[in-house]
Amino acid sequence: MKYELQNGWKKSIDKDAVFSYAEKYKSFLNEAKTEREAVCECVRLAKENGFKNIEDVETLTSGDKVYSVNRGKSLILAVIGKEKVECGVNIVGSHIDAPRLDLKPNPLYEDGEMAYFKTHYYGGIKKYQWTAVPLSLHGVVVKANGEKINVRIGDEKDDLTFVITDLLPHLAREQMQKKATEIVDGETLNILIGSMPLEDEEKDGVKANILSILNEKYGICEEDFISAELEAVPAMDAKDIGFDRALIGAYAHDDKVCSFPNLTAILETEECERTAICLLTDKEEIGSMGNSGAKSNFLNYFLSQLLEKTGDVSSTVKLYRTLNNSYCLSGDVSAAFDPNFPSPYEKRNCGRVNYGITLTKYTGSGGKGGSNDASAEFMAKIRNLFNENDVLWHAGELGKVDAGGGGTIAQYIANLGVETVDCGVSLLSMHAPYEVASKLDVYMTYKAFGAFFKMR
Ligand code: MN
Ligand code: MN
Repeated sequence: MKYELQNGWKKSIDKDAVFSYAEKYKSFLNEAKTEREAVCECVRLAKENGFKNIEDVETLTSGDKVYSVNRGKSLILAVIGKEKVECGVNIVGSHIDAPRLDLKPNPLYEDGEMAYFKTHYYGGIKKYQWTAVPLSLHGVVVKANGEKINVRIGDEKDDLTFVITDLLPHLAREQMQKKATEIVDGETLNILIGSMPLEDEEKDGVKANILSILNEKYGICEEDFISAELEAVPAMDAKDIGFDRALIGAYAHDDKVCSFPNLTAILETEECERTAICLLTDKEEIGSMGNSGAKSNFLNYFLSQLLEKTGDVSSTVKLYRTLNNSYCLSGDVSAAFDPNFPSPYEKRNCGRVNYGITLTKYTGSGGKGGSNDASAEFMAKIRNLFNENDVLWHAGELGKVDAGGGGTIAQYIANLGVETVDCGVSLLSMHAPYEVASKLDVYMTYKAFGAFFKMR
């Protein structure tokens, strides 16, 4: 009669499976620091596992595996089911973008005989957390002639690194009186990138030297920054945390911690009744806007292609019917109870470390505002699925009713008519440069998604 939760490690868990899966996850984290790198790595693994680009495939039948890349920033993978696409598909949606510092269009300047990049932060961050940590630089520079230069600096051993400096405590009397939102102003998130002037340059010799190095190494000039997407991220690799090695510390667990389980679950899906869809989307951290975000038409276009290539004449009504018959797990992170900061959590209804995947009926803020509120019927279906497949799970919401809030892509997928619910790993230090996730919870999320792809 009673419903009681227990720490997952007290149950009979295949510890070896949990720990070996974590090793693969850590490698993925180190490889895929940005959305573009995540797409490249996922496509590489997809091809290795027999997935074909949907553009190269004329017709599709049960068991076929395809993928579609959207502008190098978002990706869908699918395993065609035995049932017609029109009967509905099972989608796991997660995101591959993460909070970071983007370079401004005119980033490079010199001040105090040092050179800097100006940044514009991306997503919700505590700005003061991003100073005095090593940073690496990732992304692309597209020259006016269309030539694309891939940039990845600061992640290899013995590689150089970058940093945003902070004021010493001795002189921070005024700074430390400020509100936490103002301790570090957005316009002081300037990345230190050099200090050695060119010998015979009278003015801005350090900047001139940087330009000359960049020109020599990448063949770029200052104007090329205007057509670049360069992202500064923490230059820290994923590592085990704790004497027992049960946790992983890393940049961008949100939302690789659901995207990697999403990817690996679909790669291992050989047969399914309903077509299985792994959606890896971009721009979640800034509202899922734009042509690579979850509000774009990418999913609809992909489903239309599936209808067409499985021999169904694609039509608007068939697409709508497909969506209306579909199910979605919106795989995104929640907040795990943190005993150092107990006050914003509601202990009976929060995410927990080592209790498996967190099932979240609704997100939002100020009274479920802006939330997909999953139906009781769908909650029951998913609860039953997890129980039948030995997936450890617990129900949780982000925090106390009026403590704050947040959202995921769930609402945008649900708006299409898809039965949708949020679930994922609950993190410690979410959106910090170094976030913490439980190996057991990551593994249970992978098991949950695998079971969902086979769900009827
Ligand atoms: Mn997220
Ligand atoms: Mn986030």
